[in-house]
Amino acid sequence: MLSVILMPVAAIHVLSYLTRDIYANFDPLAIGRVLLPRNDFQGLLRKELFYIDQAKTQHDPCGWSEFWELRQKSVMGLLAKTKIDLSELRLPPDKRDRSAAACCPLCYAEYRSGFNRCSDCSINLKPYE
Ligand SMILES: [Zn+2]
Repeated sequence: MLSVILMPVAAIHVLSYLTRDIYANFDPLAIGRVLLPRNDFQGLLRKELFYIDQAKTQHDPCGWSEFWELRQKSVMGLLAKTKIDLSELRLPPDKRDRSAAACCPLCYAEYRSGFNRCSDCSINLKPYE
């Protein structure tokens, strides 16, 4: 705030000074539920669940398993409150390109045959059936 008082030019950013901590203690998913369109929010949930699943299956030398259990419980609670079905989130997307053979389960990018990993997410693709 001192910089705003001493430098009038900095007053342009006064709003960011006043609001930068406004969501500091909120869960990003809870904010996403309020601010994002439903499809974007579901994408955010899908990614969060994917990362939780990944973290829970990996070797855990630092003892994060309790955190991931609580995180999963929190996300499941949010799913229940928002009436979003978990199986709906795990469904593959509708095929947009006829030549697509697989899609990324996270970003839903489609790939032709011969590709095994998403170039953006670096995860294995799910083949269309
Ligand atoms: Zn991807």
